[in-house]
Amino acid sequence: MTISPKPTSRSGSRTFPSGDGEQEYPPGAQATTPELLNMLPHGVVLFDAQGHVTFVNDRYRRMHGFAEDEIRTGVPLLDLFTRRHLANVPTVREIQYCRQLQNSLSPAQEVTGDIMADDGRTIHFISTPLPSGGWLVTHEDTTQQQLARQQIEHLARHDSLTDLINRSALCDQLDEALERRPPSKLIAVLFLDLDNFKTTNDALGHNIGDQLLKEAAERIRHCSRRSHDQIARFGGDDFAIVSTDLSSPAQAAALAERVRQSLRNPFNLQGHLVEIDASIGIALAPQDGLSGEELFKKADLALYQAKRSGRGACTFFENGMDTRMAARRNLEMELRSAFARSEFEVHYQPLLCLATNRITSCEALIRWNHPTRGLVGPSEFISVAEEIGLINNIGDWVMNTACLEAAKWPKEVMVSVNVSAVQFRSRDLINSVISGLTASGLPAGRLELEITESVLLDDTEQTLEILAELQNIGVRIAMDDFGTGYSSLSYLQKHPFNKIKIDQSFVQGLSTSGEANAIVRAVTNLAESLRMDTTAEGVETEGQKAMVTALGCSEIQGFIFSKAVPAMQIRDLLRQHRSHA
Ligand code: C2E
Ligand code: MG
Ligand code: MG
Repeated sequence: MTISPKPTSRSGSRTFPSGDGEQEYPPGAQATTPELLNMLPHGVVLFDAQGHVTFVNDRYRRMHGFAEDEIRTGVPLLDLFTRRHLANVPTVREIQYCRQLQNSLSPAQEVTGDIMADDGRTIHFISTPLPSGGWLVTHEDTTQQQLARQQIEHLARHDSLTDLINRSALCDQLDEALERRPPSKLIAVLFLDLDNFKTTNDALGHNIGDQLLKEAAERIRHCSRRSHDQIARFGGDDFAIVSTDLSSPAQAAALAERVRQSLRNPFNLQGHLVEIDASIGIALAPQDGLSGEELFKKADLALYQAKRSGRGACTFFENGMDTRMAARRNLEMELRSAFARSEFEVHYQPLLCLATNRITSCEALIRWNHPTRGLVGPSEFISVAEEIGLINNIGDWVMNTACLEAAKWPKEVMVSVNVSAVQFRSRDLINSVISGLTASGLPAGRLELEITESVLLDDTEQTLEILAELQNIGVRIAMDDFGTGYSSLSYLQKHPFNKIKIDQSFVQGLSTSGEANAIVRAVTNLAESLRMDTTAEGVETEGQKAMVTALGCSEIQGFIFSKAVPAMQIRDLLRQHRSHA
């Protein structure tokens, strides 16, 4: 805005009342008439060359709470404000404001600035020198813009759910801390991942999931030191802490432990008691790195390791984690493309009934026909497929392939398909079974699903419903690897399995361990009373076969009879076996 009211006495100049008599204004200054100035959206003050007020418009008056007749022109601005101050009217910090404005009355150039009012308003002013030697100062109340800007800046650096800072803000804080770090002090970067969050979110809904995250954030905040720990949420259930001023790694471990302890106390979320824990990875400066990027990367690797070692672990970064991680990432990539490139195949291993010496079923066991490594066994990739969410696709494919294959076998031979605990978490498993049976025409009674005890660990309504529904369809259920995990004979009483497969570790321990004998005996007794079959897994020798027979097992599976073989071979084996019967 450029207004140049030149003081002049030429005729045609305009005057307006100023309170102190008539004030003269230049000709051609229609745009500066008080009426027009009063219509401006800005507060306007005109100063003369001595810095005395010669005019203020209505908006300025209102902006600073001056009454209509309160402003006398020809006085220094400070006088006006001092009078108001004495009258106890809250406004801008008078002296500061007047000095600021006074200083802005530079003869040479336009000066801009912001004034903070006591009531929280921000007023932006532009002070423009006039050719006459006076100044025009416009005032704009920019409080709303300022607030909006602050809000945007806050949002850009904070997580909206928990109001913790976000990743980029934490990065900046870490960089600053690294620069200021005294040589004797350590900085720790802790990456946290809530165990069990996804299950809670899926089971109880996103509202409760959000509430859990907010309360978890609050607890983490409580465990930390206000002046030395910065806490951030990286999204999802990932949090991070930058802890400065540490004297030893043990202090970082202690912080991690405090956080885990506080998160382990059950959360009461709208009446639901939820238990969680946290996995934590820690990297330290200076030993693990001196840049924020490096420390973030290493804390992430340590967290990954913590998660792999089971729930609720806290792990410091160690050299070598990077190479293991790279190998793992490579495996993940290869696994995804293996599925797309049809590199999987299914082999089949027969199960033999001890009483009749007949093959009752063949177990479908997946193999990965790797382009350079040859046949890779499932123990090397099933758990990775579970972690990266590929197991459902693989499971569907094995189900279809195995059902189609079994449909070609003699009618008395079943096919046993291994089902991962991850597949049990959704009802897709039922669809997978139905579509496998439908596409192949295999009767449901010829399909047996092998599940492990981990499926029953949660023992949720959903698991039990899925189990019951599968048995309603007519599919048989076998408990695989019994005795390895969290074995409990009560599982067997609670769930109507059709078969228990006793893990090969017991079979291998039979000759030497009286304990193994006793366990196998207890399982076969119980199974018999519950009318379940018992298969001894991994039988390799005649001695083992004799022993499991004596202990009451009804079936054997193992190299003594046949290892797992490709589809073509199992067909031959079944044909020969039948003709020898
Ligand atoms: P599992 O279900 O207990 O399968 C039996 C494993 O024992 C097979 O290993 C089999 O080759 C091996 N085995 C059989 N007889 C003997 C023996 O006499 N001595 C010894 N030492 N081992 C024997 P494999 O094929 O490596 O499979 C390992 C595990 O991978 C399986 O254990 C099963 O839990 C899982 N798995 C295999 N295929 C699939 C699949 O399609 N889906 C899922 N989710 N898991 C699968
Ligand atoms: Mg099995
Ligand atoms: Mg097994």
